[in-house]
Amino acid sequence: MIQIEHLHKSFGDLDVLEDVSLNIHEGETLAIIGQSGSGKSVLMKHIVGLLSPDRGRVLVDDVDICSVPYERLREVRKHFGVLFQGGALFDSMTSEENVAFPLEYFSSRSPAEIKARVAECLELVRMPDVGPKKPAELSGGMRKRVALARAIALEPKYILYDEPTSGLDPKTSNTIDELIQQLAEEMNVTSVVVTHDMHSVFNIADRAAFLYGKSLHWVGPIDAIHNRDDPVLDSFVTASEY
Ligand code: ATP
Ligand code: MG
Repeated sequence: MIQIEHLHKSFGDLDVLEDVSLNIHEGETLAIIGQSGSGKSVLMKHIVGLLSPDRGRVLVDDVDICSVPYERLREVRKHFGVLFQGGALFDSMTSEENVAFPLEYFSSRSPAEIKARVAECLELVRMPDVGPKKPAELSGGMRKRVALARAIALEPKYILYDEPTSGLDPKTSNTIDELIQQLAEEMNVTSVVVTHDMHSVFNIADRAAFLYGKSLHWVGPIDAIHNRDDPVLDSFVTASEY
């Protein structure tokens, strides 16, 4: 379980998040929604310890990741797969090398075991043949899937997705959504999906957390979004759907 408690974050004079508290439950798929610049990526980076709060804390399975020594944070991070906004593959490496990277860096598997796991992950994202190709040779949707293969290589307990479907056509977006659902079901992962894409939210999420005006304005189950009586949430969702 991930517990975000009274988190505050500013960059210089810019207050981005004020008093954000949120629990993310085992096995659920939680969508973090909100307009551009509302702090979704900043919040996501706190969950994996890439940013530290000015005040408040983040607990991952009862470990306060904001105050542990780096070695301990590194251990906690092994339980996370992260799909960054933009994919962030290493351009100079082939797809196989990209997926192998976390296994080489974070695990003690033998080269043969790594090779087998890389093949398994590329198979899981339905890209068994792209191993020798470099990111520049792939389409945007293919790059996202290779990045996803890399994110799941260490069999994470949590997967964080930052805008997994942005820039993709509706059909490719649906394929990514299906993969997110498949991973949630087959690997029983807890997923946090940062997205603008309400279509995707309705497809895959169990709950949504809506950031607005530096705060967490609304949190609730997906069904409740359909019957929303909150005017701010309503205006965001209506604008995003059409
Ligand atoms: P988008 O939907 O466009 O990705 P977002 O909700 O993910 O937007 P964030 O990237 O979380 O938005 O950024 C929130 C605010 O914090 C923005 O005003 C951004 O400029 C600022 N910000 C984010 N990271 C930093 C940083 N490292 N240094 C300074 N300001 C930052
Ligand atoms: Mg963002």
